[in-house]
Amino acid sequence: MSAPNPTLLGLDGHRKGALLERGLGLPGAPVDEPHLDLAGLDGVEAEPLRGGAADVRGIAALQLLAGEDEAGPLGDDRFPAKARAWNALEHDLEPLADEGANLAHAVRRLRLVDFELTPEQREVQATVRQFVDERVLPNAIENDINHHLDMSVIEGMAELGLLGIVIPEEYGGAGMDFVSEALSCEEIERGEAAFRTLISVHVGLNSLSLLRYASEEQKQRYLGPQARGEKLACFGLTEPAAGSDVAAMRTTAVREGDVYVLNGQKNWISYASVAEHALVFAKTDPEAKHKGISAFIVERSWPGVSAQETEHKLGVWAGSTGELFFENVEVPAENLVGEEGQGFEIAMYSLDQGRFTVAAGGCGVIRACLERSVEYARERETFGRPIGKNQFVQDMIAEMVLDYETSKLLVMQAAWLKDRGVRNTRETSLAKWHATECAFKAAHLAIQVHGAYGYSAEYGIERYFRNARAPIIYEGTTQIHKMMQAEHALGYRNLNGRDGDVSPMASWAPALLARSR
Ligand SMILES: Cc1cc2nc3c(=O)[nH]c(=O)nc-3n(C[C@H](O)[C@H](O)[C@H](O)COP(=O)(O)OP(=O)(O)OC[C@H]3O[C@@H](n4cnc5c(N)ncnc54)[C@H](O)[C@@H]3O)c2cc1C
Repeated sequence: MSAPNPTLLGLDGHRKGALLERGLGLPGAPVDEPHLDLAGLDGVEAEPLRGGAADVRGIAALQLLAGEDEAGPLGDDRFPAKARAWNALEHDLEPLADEGANLAHAVRRLRLVDFELTPEQREVQATVRQFVDERVLPNAIENDINHHLDMSVIEGMAELGLLGIVIPEEYGGAGMDFVSEALSCEEIERGEAAFRTLISVHVGLNSLSLLRYASEEQKQRYLGPQARGEKLACFGLTEPAAGSDVAAMRTTAVREGDVYVLNGQKNWISYASVAEHALVFAKTDPEAKHKGISAFIVERSWPGVSAQETEHKLGVWAGSTGELFFENVEVPAENLVGEEGQGFEIAMYSLDQGRFTVAAGGCGVIRACLERSVEYARERETFGRPIGKNQFVQDMIAEMVLDYETSKLLVMQAAWLKDRGVRNTRETSLAKWHATECAFKAAHLAIQVHGAYGYSAEYGIERYFRNARAPIIYEGTTQIHKMMQAEHALGYRNLNGRDGDVSPMASWAPALLARSR
């Protein structure tokens, strides 16, 4: 039996138009049979369709939702979008097939639980994965041992648009979404943490803050070249006596005519000695604590600015971490970002962006450790059988699986909020805390699965272990994130601002419920 032709099913003009515009969205369908996919259902598959037009309209809507990225029969597992549509038809839409079924409601509901990647997101994922396999991983161990920052990889990242991935095209970026940024960070850190760190500071902490707070002139001068990957940027917040306690910073900027005179020091700054310019935070009103902080774009080549690499650190040997020194640096007043005294707000906004990339990168570490451990556990034999047959080893693998998937779900929840422009400090903090702890744990477990070989640089597992340690410290230590979450839950602070924007999944907390009433 052939299914009803959807053009006859009373679809409204808009939906019909959308379907026809896409040739029913079936890239593989012959042109002269535009409805092949719906019409080609066999008797068993078509049976539920006899129910009437509402079901078929449901399929049509689902196909639109699914983006119709594959051609293939409904319900076939090899075509996930179709299988999903089929499943949804059976479980969600069928009850709605009655007279007056509320299709719009069903479509809205399905959108909320849509875990599908768009064709563009899949392409980004596949492209960056290939880049990492071909350009990063082959030299990763050697670069790490030699403490070598491979600038050719950074050039490759710039060519792929990763250095401006979420920056709008009008400012030289790739104009992609936050899901794509997360997928990229995961792939990049699967290869090497140093390069994900660059995305964190260059895109997350610096560029996205300029996009939000910088003047048009600053955007043209700095953001554009950054997004195009022509210039690298870093983020100077931490000082020797001010890490978690940002307001304790001692760097000062004193207004003198057309310039601010900058004096002080920043330490533990990723890419300090490589980046052309930095977003630097300094006190313009030392008495006003966090309200006295301002943000400036400072070029490394200016008189009075110097930088040096930090030696003898535990990890990210193939990257760059350093110090910035400012001695009577004359910063043009037009390089003040935002208003005087707005620096703390800018820094907190920056951290919402940077932490997201750190969390996404953590997923890459877990995946790398999981993939490598599975491979090894299937090959390595003890007592006459693969070590993967032992429940204690399986326990480690299972932990990594759970940690990967929970981390990824938290990252995607944050991405979902970001892509909708909703404040997401709480959700990003959760993702960062969880994913970085899980990444370190995965590296620890992966060493255990590999035994002594995991401890050797030859296998590259210990590299993940060393590199996964710093993310638990930077962009808010685990303790700071725990404090934030507990205080939010208790109602002592509102991480997502006074407007009370919260993720739909956050309504468990009494304090949040009270607030939303
Ligand atoms: C590899 C690396 C790269 C970095 N890159 C950058 C960068 O690019 N830009 C930048 O600005 N900074 C950067 N940092 C610095 C980083 O952000 C800080 O190290 C971090 O904010 C913690 O500050 P701290 O090291 O001074 O520790 P402290 O703030 O002194 O904390 C020490 C300990 O006390 C705990 N603690 C502190 N306050 C509290 C509290 N209220 N409640 C409970 N526990 C608390 C902390 O959790 C921690 O365990 C980087 C750090 C590293 C290691």
